[in-house]
Amino acid sequence: MYQGFTQHKTGELVYLTGDTIPLRHAFTTRLGGVSEGSLASLNLGEHRGDREENVRENYRRLTAALGLSDQRLVFTRQVHGAAVKTVTAADIHTLFTPVPYEADGIVTAERGLVLTCFTADCVPVLLADPQAGVAGAVHCGWRSSVADILGRAVAAMAALGAQPARMRAAIGPAIGACCFETGPEVPEAVLAWLGRDGEAFIAPIADKPGKFLVDLKAANARRLTQLGLPAGQIAVSEACTRCSHETFWSHRYTRGDRGSQAAVIAL
Ligand SMILES: [Zn+2]
Repeated sequence: MYQGFTQHKTGELVYLTGDTIPLRHAFTTRLGGVSEGSLASLNLGEHRGDREENVRENYRRLTAALGLSDQRLVFTRQVHGAAVKTVTAADIHTLFTPVPYEADGIVTAERGLVLTCFTADCVPVLLADPQAGVAGAVHCGWRSSVADILGRAVAAMAALGAQPARMRAAIGPAIGACCFETGPEVPEAVLAWLGRDGEAFIAPIADKPGKFLVDLKAANARRLTQLGLPAGQIAVSEACTRCSHETFWSHRYTRGDRGSQAAVIAL
């Protein structure tokens, strides 16, 4: 079945990796950075009200721990859509300059680019076909998930030479089925997306008519198997960002006064 995650500590920096992905990658926590107050301490969001020098130092620590360059980051403006962009060195982002395009997924076949996606309860998914030399980072909030952004990401990677049967995936810390309470619109969309397979990830709340708990991490894992990835090549984090809000940024727990996690991967 699905594989797990491993926690690492480099200096004060604490991050996780998926056991399935043999490339340099990380899912960050909120631990080990220099940001202060409600952003303490590892905030990687540029637009959370943090001081620029703090965000720069947080990126320096993260990329140094992974043996990567903070001069080769690639960002997108995440908008809860389904767009996936294929990126090259022409898309390298200089911190605190505008990002010229919107996309919730990015894929590449270029070595050394640090594909970056941001979350704080939404589901971060990293993908790789190491043999083909293709990687991707996808921001899977529920709207992007049910719009099948993973289907688009796998197709974009296939266009670069990746094969789903060879691909590795890691589904990082995100709000769990314990805490992701929704109205009927989310279960309805999950069933439209996954078909009958979606039923396993939806639980009505007995004493709250019209309310449901949805397992968005497991639903995205199921979508990857529908797309042809073997379950044994998919790692799924057990961590719930809201339950473990002292370790991870949680939008719901903090009601929005928060930093951002990053999931990063490089070929
Ligand atoms: Zn929870």
